[in-house]
Amino acid sequence: MANIFEKIVNGELDADIVFQDDRVTAFRDIAPKARVHVLIVPNQVIETVDDIADEDEALIGHMVLVARDIARQEGIAEDGYRLMINCREHGGQEVYHLHLHLMGGQHMGPMVCR
Ligand code: AMP
Repeated sequence: MANIFEKIVNGELDADIVFQDDRVTAFRDIAPKARVHVLIVPNQVIETVDDIADEDEALIGHMVLVARDIARQEGIAEDGYRLMINCREHGGQEVYHLHLHLMGGQHMGPMVCR
């Protein structure tokens, strides 16, 4: 069964998509933790960072460049932003389809909440 992000990529589930090409899809987080909170996901299913294969290197680089471009489009690049990937249980990963969080538009505070 397709996971929720796979359904967004395939157009089966509505999302506020800000960018899509043949490799990645970027959409606004449904429960934003910052004024700008966009998720960049590969169109193919890679469950976690630990499941990234060596041959995915260009795809992962593309995800970061797409995040850079979206940050510029959103007008948050100059002030800065946070890019984050959670991995599995200890990383706090909820959706098992690799996703890069782009968060900004405000000061993001300390890296880890205590
Ligand atoms: P993570 O905890 O790193 O797995 O992050 C999962 C993120 O996905 C959370 O920030 C959720 O708010 C977000 N999310 C869950 N369902 C949806 C959805 N249908 N559309 C957009 N974002 C979602």
